[in-house]
Amino acid sequence: MSRHTSWRVGGVADAYLAPADRDDLLAALHRLRAAGVPWLVLGGGSNLLVRDGGVRGAVIATSALNRLDFLADGEVRAEAGVALGRLVEEAARRGLAGLELLYGIPGTVGGALAMNAGVPGREFGDLVEAALVTDGSVFELWERPRLAFGYRSSALTAGWIAVEARLRLTPGEPAALAAILRERLACRRRSQSVEGANAGSVFRNPAGAKAWELIEKAGLKGVLAGGAKISDIHGNFIVNLGQARAADILVLMERIQREVERGSGIRLEPEVKIVGQDED
Ligand SMILES: Cc1cc2nc3c(=O)[nH]c(=O)nc-3n(C[C@H](O)[C@H](O)[C@H](O)COP(=O)(O)OP(=O)(O)OC[C@H]3O[C@@H](n4cnc5c(N)ncnc54)[C@H](O)[C@@H]3O)c2cc1C
Repeated sequence: MSRHTSWRVGGVADAYLAPADRDDLLAALHRLRAAGVPWLVLGGGSNLLVRDGGVRGAVIATSALNRLDFLADGEVRAEAGVALGRLVEEAARRGLAGLELLYGIPGTVGGALAMNAGVPGREFGDLVEAALVTDGSVFELWERPRLAFGYRSSALTAGWIAVEARLRLTPGEPAALAAILRERLACRRRSQSVEGANAGSVFRNPAGAKAWELIEKAGLKGVLAGGAKISDIHGNFIVNLGQARAADILVLMERIQREVERGSGIRLEPEVKIVGQDED
């Protein structure tokens, strides 16, 4: 799984499936269900920490589900495997506003939906009217309330796979939108040019505080474990210096939790999804 995650760590999965389309996805899920094989859905792998022992069961990659349709009145239908960046760029080019602040967040539409990816002032879920989802037996159209978007969370928990997001965007001026995209990218380059492969912010911001600030205050920037390091540039990023293992990253995560809690009384909770088995 180190080939499929932005952190470049993670052991081997028992099976790796990349269904060609919706029918193929449903057929695969039917067979996995019948055989009692659990599955893990993989988008861009930009928010996933896969342990070194890998994944028992099947990984289902949404990469081939990449249809993107722009309909009338700002309605957009994007399949789960569409890269978020492609959706944002294409919308801006067509003069459709709403998504531009999200430019630069890696990953797919499915990941953005499941995680309710966002930045201050805009979350992906703000634009979503409904999502087509499946549990391997049926397709269901979940309207927005059922998706229960929260801070970096949604109702798309284990078992349910998002197949398509249906969004509603508003008219905008292409040149102005393009300028915002350029500004967002420059801003990310300034603040997030870190020392190695990573998964963005490791911990959620606790109510009324910033995780990166608490980590910096605890004096943890630059701390190493094996091939992993708490970034010198952004306290809430842990970077793979090249040879890191998931276990190294987990050591740093536990140390952050322990020391931040000791200093501030606040227990940081991971934003990244930790999956798979330990090596032993
Ligand atoms: C440099 C960097 C910067 C980042 N900046 C931000 C940021 O500003 N804001 C932010 O919110 N995040 C940020 N992230 C985190 C990450 O990019 C987002 O969480 C992104 O939305 C994850 O999408 P993905 O496709 O990579 O999901 P994955 O990492 O593949 O999966 C994440 C979770 O979503 C589930 N999932 C994926 N696809 C589906 C699907 N089709 N159906 C159901 N569940 C699914 C997975 O099972 C997993 O639980 C950043 C990451 C990096 C590396």
